[in-house]
Amino acid sequence: ATIEERYREMFSNSVEWYERGRSLFAGGITHQTRFTSPFPAYIDHADGPYKYDVDDNQIIDYVMGNGSLLMGHSKPEIIEAVREQAGRGTHVGGASTHEVRYAEAVKRLVPSLERVRFTASGTESTYLALRLARAYTGKTKIVKFHEHFHGWHDYVTPESGQALGGVPQEILGTVIVAPADIAAVDAILSQDNDIAAVIVECNGAHYGTFPLQNPQFLQDLQDLTKRHGVIFIMDEVITGFRLSPGGAQVRWGLEPDLTTMAKIIAGGQPGSAVGGRADIMELMAFREDPEWDNMGRVAQGGTYNAQPVTAAAGIAALDAIANEGINARADAMSQRLKEGLNEAFIQNEVTGHAHGISSIIHVNLGADCSCDRDICNMPYQQIYDTMPAAKTRALRRAMLVNGVDMMGGRAFIVSSAHDEAVIDRTTAAFSQSLKDLRD
Ligand code: PLP
Repeated sequence: ATIEERYREMFSNSVEWYERGRSLFAGGITHQTRFTSPFPAYIDHADGPYKYDVDDNQIIDYVMGNGSLLMGHSKPEIIEAVREQAGRGTHVGGASTHEVRYAEAVKRLVPSLERVRFTASGTESTYLALRLARAYTGKTKIVKFHEHFHGWHDYVTPESGQALGGVPQEILGTVIVAPADIAAVDAILSQDNDIAAVIVECNGAHYGTFPLQNPQFLQDLQDLTKRHGVIFIMDEVITGFRLSPGGAQVRWGLEPDLTTMAKIIAGGQPGSAVGGRADIMELMAFREDPEWDNMGRVAQGGTYNAQPVTAAAGIAALDAIANEGINARADAMSQRLKEGLNEAFIQNEVTGHAHGISSIIHVNLGADCSCDRDICNMPYQQIYDTMPAAKTRALRRAMLVNGVDMMGGRAFIVSSAHDEAVIDRTTAAFSQSLKDLRD
């Protein structure tokens, strides 16, 4: 049987759900990455490293809540915290003890955050950080990097791998897209005097698919922005609480002006935050002071900012990260997976390699390079050319048929719930998928 025939057989109960979804959702789905051809496998529940679909297949999961579940699905302490708080009020409609304890838990791990504000998604956090930077500097433009992804609001959509429909031309005119090259960024900041901020995905474009030469690149960027008086925003939505308990900045000794965080910070609930220098963040303060321009301050709303269930889940997750060696465990499992995948390429005599740091591994099927398998040095255009969308879809489908779900058919997001046996089953599934794709 072909891979597609096996897929249709294995996930046969999903067909009906896809039919129902198609009449409800634009394009049949609620997030572009959730589509798998010929139809998505509809997931019913999840536990630890596994998720289970409507045919009750056990699937080893490496999507891990799009990177929000560093401890796997349904960690008992987090579920208990959510359950307990849900019974005591899901929105208390006022300043709460929860938000204070939540912010303290965040600041304990990320010392650069002199002040914090909670938001409800990573997209909101980058939107707010950019608004703060414009208000603080009195300047309009932002610099982002080619292919770096910071959510889906207008200012970060250009050259992020997303379509541009509906984004105003006026806004596109305020966004400068730079190559990940310090000399080029220096030239841009030297020539244009209207730049408020530089925002960067700390592990490289698309959660490290195209890695930066770190930590040097981020250090150089921090020095450069300081020299030019431009706000340095580290987008730690992916790297925060993953690259180390305090994220990329603590791992590499950096001190950004502003940091954006989401995913792991909220323990699997919807939630996010912006934090950083007090003099910038305090532009949001409302003051009963005739000298203070309340109309000129930076506005932020958000019904669900630090809602108590998110706060409870976030605190439980951050406590575990602070106390349980979660990061080291996930990193070790990830390292084992990376070695297994690279071994599978060699055993099957298939050209390709796996690279990545911490607990995210990227696969390049069809091209090899001389990189150290931590930080790949292949030009991103070459990576794209060897892994076009059709190929990532084919790999994801082959892996699903063999019981494993990859993030976007390109990557593995590993958690501390993946143990040695699960990793070794994954490597075997990958080896089988390489064989299946060749046949
Ligand atoms: N920034 C980065 C680096 C991301 O990877 C993402 C999402 O994947 C976002 C921002 C946007 O976060 P959200 O999907 O919560 O809006």
